[in-house]
Amino acid sequence: MRRSRAFIPTIKEAPSDATLASHKFLIRGGFINTQGAGLYNFMPLGKIVLEKIRAIVKEELDAAGCNEVQLSFVTPIGLWERSGRSETMGKEMLRIKDRHENEFVLSPTNEEAMVELVKNRVTSYKDLPINLYQINTKFRDEARPRYGLLRGREFLMKDGYSFHSSQEDMIREFDLMEATYKKIFTRLGLDFRVVAADSGAIGGEGSKEFHVLANSGEDTLVICEACDYGANIETIFDNEEVDALNEKSYEELKESKISKLCACGAELHFKKGIEVGHIFQLGTKYSSALEAHFSDENGRAKPFEMATFGIGVSRLIAAVIEQNHDENGCIWTKETAPYMVNILVSNVKDEAQSALAEELYERLKALHVEVMLDDTKERFGFKMKDAELIGFPYTIIIGKELQNGLVQIYDRKTKENSSINRDEIYEKIVELLK
Ligand code: ATP
Ligand code: MG
Repeated sequence: MRRSRAFIPTIKEAPSDATLASHKFLIRGGFINTQGAGLYNFMPLGKIVLEKIRAIVKEELDAAGCNEVQLSFVTPIGLWERSGRSETMGKEMLRIKDRHENEFVLSPTNEEAMVELVKNRVTSYKDLPINLYQINTKFRDEARPRYGLLRGREFLMKDGYSFHSSQEDMIREFDLMEATYKKIFTRLGLDFRVVAADSGAIGGEGSKEFHVLANSGEDTLVICEACDYGANIETIFDNEEVDALNEKSYEELKESKISKLCACGAELHFKKGIEVGHIFQLGTKYSSALEAHFSDENGRAKPFEMATFGIGVSRLIAAVIEQNHDENGCIWTKETAPYMVNILVSNVKDEAQSALAEELYERLKALHVEVMLDDTKERFGFKMKDAELIGFPYTIIIGKELQNGLVQIYDRKTKENSSINRDEIYEKIVELLK
């Protein structure tokens, strides 16, 4: 992409409600903009990152035998009345009426609709297990939409639902999804932990959350550095205590209820986390309520054993930045960067500079490298600041030094600037991208 043709409206000042690095930099870098409270537009850079994350999620889920579907975002209220969640979901569930006064819901999650989809279509134990997922818009009328993409009202979620003939098989799938989620978050380059979690309003037993470790996280976790033990404090403390802990006064409470040592003998630590995934063992809660049955080996009708699996796809964009930024802007990981390479022409009027930039640009594109060519007439300092803010992993600087046969490669993460002979730049960048 040529910067002169790109729609990347970077801005100097973040809006005053943006307190977190991800919120500030994603808006300043022209990735997203605010449509209303908790509502965001994805501009070209934000859309590219979103699609990259979506693709990784899909690739790993498909490899694990899951089937992608896409359900209607709007669901009739009757579905929620039958499961009892019309009452329990409260004000987070946004209800709308059509011209005939029929009531609908902007789906905050899709257990009911997915059970309806499978009901009477999957009828025998022979058709099981089955795992269906979608990567689709959700709406939750959050009491406090804030922190940008971390807590939107409209957001993109991967929600998966599995159906089984026995609890044993459901637990096998739960373990498979835990392993799959670990692969996804590892590929995204995130430092994360899996912790024991509360099941909340979704219900059922057996639940684990995946948290990206970051001081800005809203959840408090107890984790062991020596083994893989981890728990959300919601599983240990009551609501008031959790509120106190989340307000960061946790040092005082620290001694009270939690043993200082893990069962493995090492010390336990409090860490802040951003919840990016949640997997639940549901059992037969929804299949019983919605009378979704299959016939077992003896021809007896039984409700499906179910599990459900969520990933905050749009939240992940912000989580990547919470973990990877500095005072100047975003630092994208290899799998999430909207463009891996930025070719910055210091002076576009200099024919030699432009010619080399064009040549490199074409060669890298031919290799399918995601490359931006900054061919704008802006000053060098402005372009560099913009590149820092957007967070291209590598910027090739073609400037005055070209007279001496040299160009620079700037590494966004290490901030190192290395001079390279112009004839070696192509091989060098290809090597760095491996
Ligand atoms: P939270 O505790 O953060 O409110 P939740 O427990 O309500 O999340 P789930 O119902 O488990 O969320 O939804 C699955 C995933 O969707 C979460 O792990 C999270 O990553 C994401 N998610 C939930 N609410 C939001 C939101 N308001 N904005 C962005 N992502 C969200
Ligand atoms: Mg949750």
